[in-house]
Amino acid sequence: MTRPLAILRAMSDDTAPPAERVQELRQRIHDANHAYFVEDAPTLTDAEYDALVRELRQLESEHPDLVTPDSPTQRVGAQPAGELRTLTHGVPMYSLDNAFEETDLDAFAERASRILGSDAPLAYHAELKIDGLSVNLRYENGTLVWAATRGNGREGEEITPNVLAIPGLPHSLEDAPTELEVRGEVYLPKAEFVRINEAREEAGEPPFRNPRNAAAGTVRQLDPEVARSRNLEAFFYGVGRTEGLPVSNQYDLLTWLAGHGFRVNETRARVTGMEEARTVIEDWTARRSDLPYDADGVVLKVDDFALQRELGETSRAPRWAIAWKFPAEEATTRLLDVTIQVGRTGKITPVAELEPRMLEGTEVARATLHNPGFIHDMDLRIGDAVVLHKSGGIIPEILRVLPEQRPEGAEAWVEPTHCPACESELVEDGANLRCVNPECPAQRLERIGHWGSRRALDIEGLGEKSVDQFLDAGLITSIPDLYDLDEERLAALEGWGATSARNLLAQLDAKRTPPLPRFLVALGLPQVGPATAEQLARRYRTLDALLDTTAEELAAIPDVGETTASLLVDALSRPAMQHTLEGLRERGVWPEALEDEGRSDALEGLTIVLTGALSQPRDVIKNALEMRGARVTGSVSKNTSLVVAGEDPGSKVDKATDLGIEVTGEEGLAEIVRERGADWPFEGSGEG
Ligand code: AMP
Ligand code: ZN
Repeated sequence: MTRPLAILRAMSDDTAPPAERVQELRQRIHDANHAYFVEDAPTLTDAEYDALVRELRQLESEHPDLVTPDSPTQRVGAQPAGELRTLTHGVPMYSLDNAFEETDLDAFAERASRILGSDAPLAYHAELKIDGLSVNLRYENGTLVWAATRGNGREGEEITPNVLAIPGLPHSLEDAPTELEVRGEVYLPKAEFVRINEAREEAGEPPFRNPRNAAAGTVRQLDPEVARSRNLEAFFYGVGRTEGLPVSNQYDLLTWLAGHGFRVNETRARVTGMEEARTVIEDWTARRSDLPYDADGVVLKVDDFALQRELGETSRAPRWAIAWKFPAEEATTRLLDVTIQVGRTGKITPVAELEPRMLEGTEVARATLHNPGFIHDMDLRIGDAVVLHKSGGIIPEILRVLPEQRPEGAEAWVEPTHCPACESELVEDGANLRCVNPECPAQRLERIGHWGSRRALDIEGLGEKSVDQFLDAGLITSIPDLYDLDEERLAALEGWGATSARNLLAQLDAKRTPPLPRFLVALGLPQVGPATAEQLARRYRTLDALLDTTAEELAAIPDVGETTASLLVDALSRPAMQHTLEGLRERGVWPEALEDEGRSDALEGLTIVLTGALSQPRDVIKNALEMRGARVTGSVSKNTSLVVAGEDPGSKVDKATDLGIEVTGEEGLAEIVRERGADWPFEGSGEG
């Protein structure tokens, strides 16, 4: 194979080990929040964003040990995942090691030879790696007794009712071992995925991001009726616990499974040595896009079971198998136009309008172009042929231009000088252009649309489309007006009617007292995403307290800092914001105070300064101290009661010594806290 594998490789994949995927999902959600809240240039649609959160939530429910308090799923307002019964696999379900480079394949073969003490080329069984969800089926005396997800590998969730209708999944077996676990991959065919998403969009439900997510969502459905209505399929490729199975290699196993009613993928081959394996991989890679389902690679398994046993497995993956991952897909398309998006805060984002293309399971017709500099650097012209990929497997992005395919006379994009919505002159703001007209209708639409969006108050029926309609019809001009909407006038709008009008009003009413962090997010304050909102809420507990604060106080909050603090104070004191807040308060729309769960006043009166590297991130310690009533400040003064110094403390310790203020390590801190009758959850690093 001669293709430049590394270059084509995506930055991520859905089948990475769970811990990595969880990390990656958190990072992506964080990035998306940043893009949305801070940059005011969303990189994901609401549906894409939801899909990430859903996948994270699912992974976390399958791997509770991976849940951390800072996970976006753990924030106030996050919903718990549903409950399914836990089942223990007879033999653990392993992951697979991945090969991205050809050298990974060679390293795999060499390791196997070394362990087996033989130089002879090994026989492998090559199979397509189906991109779905693995299942374990347990048969006792030939009867299916349960089906489970892989879960954490040792335990999974029961999904029996949801897989019963899958074709090629027998409910009973003839002359089978008394105990048998069969493993396979459940997936949704591409066409079925498209059908389900169309139905969901029609019903106003968020579409699934890709067939794999859709399959995962379906299999873990709490309602088997829903699962049955989606036509899941499966391929089976292995066994777990069993005894007395009359086969001794992978090839024969699949033949045996097929003979007993299990659906087995026809694309499979026995090869000898890596050279032959490569030929098969190359061949299947070329055919992958013609498959009616998603495959994300080729699995090579040492064919002989005796050799498999000799090779054994590491804690997470067998040493006798490796997954060659297909490179990320690219698609060539054409740039039809560049449009301008005006953000909630007036930021101008150029957007590529493209000839639609299918890419890794979804249709792509638009891609962000970030800022004018991005377009100029690429020398992008209207009409250009461009190569698309999905950054991180999710966000469509233009990788490069194909200048040799440039149509004659293709024009360069002309940077706008005026806002397309309000015609006021744009100003330069770093790399970006910005509309600074506070009355700009585009900004207003974004702001009000944001209020109801899923990341904010999550008011069903209050999408950007309806807000646009209300603005157009003169029903609203600002957020508080939403709460004065009249049922009859609403019902009379095109596409509405009595039921949807009533539903929207009920939704608005139901969310009159949202949790404080959500409310802060919904206000669309500059740079305030869920994480910062959470910090603000923890610090101030009520909106009124926050409104009373000063820039200095704000700047001392982790996650805020001086720039944001002054932006925030500025935003909160603007007449339009004051007007919004007053209007909301008058209409009884006001956030509930953050609950004082676990709070105590044990450390009341202590002003503590933290310095040096502590056993926990400084925010965590600070928060824990504040929860116990202490004040934590950034610098040492005569008002400081105590300085807690970790490793490599700075000048604060010197200053404290000068002022005669007590300096202690984390152990000392723990002692003080306990003396005052509060618990202290951290052990300290032992070095402070
Ligand atoms: P990973 O999750 O990336 O470690 O990959 C392991 C997963 O690949 C397994 O849990 C299966 O769900 C999936 N898989 C898909 N096709 C196959 C196959 N032919 N053989 C083994 N595993 C497969
Ligand atoms: Zn404008």
